[in-house]
Amino acid sequence: MPDYRVVKPSEREDLIAGIVAEIANSVLHIRLPGRSFIEEIYNGDVADITRPESILGLFYLHRIYVVKDLADAELVRVVTHELRHSWQIQNQKYCGLRQREVDADLFAREFSIYLGQPTESRIAARLVTAYCMKCRPISPYVRDLLLNKGAWNNGTH
Ligand SMILES: [Zn+2]
Repeated sequence: MPDYRVVKPSEREDLIAGIVAEIANSVLHIRLPGRSFIEEIYNGDVADITRPESILGLFYLHRIYVVKDLADAELVRVVTHELRHSWQIQNQKYCGLRQREVDADLFAREFSIYLGQPTESRIAARLVTAYCMKCRPISPYVRDLLLNKGAWNNGTH
């Protein structure tokens, strides 16, 4: 029974999750759920979440939980999958567990196709483009953090 605790995300992964949520919401039109990041704990510390098997994400009580430090592609996939569960609840669609999972997986795949099915190294750039098209301009700071992981900030251009 894996245990998880809520942890502080990196600024970059939290930004990516937020950007993905806003782009996805141009299709979903939901009240966006809250967002927390979690990590698995092994040392018997007090757990915030215990699940019967390992998870990368979870939707629970109008909040999505995403495992910290995922690769960009996984992060985008998990966030879109969990957002779709929020859409299901808010629209009272799909009662069966299996149906809900198939639908959430499908939405995550459609989102990836919308981005042009980018490779891992191109995902952040595609998100920046999609966000500017669907939502609003992105600040130079955020753009740099997403694309270059904030490299200008620590002098490693
Ligand atoms: Zn699911």
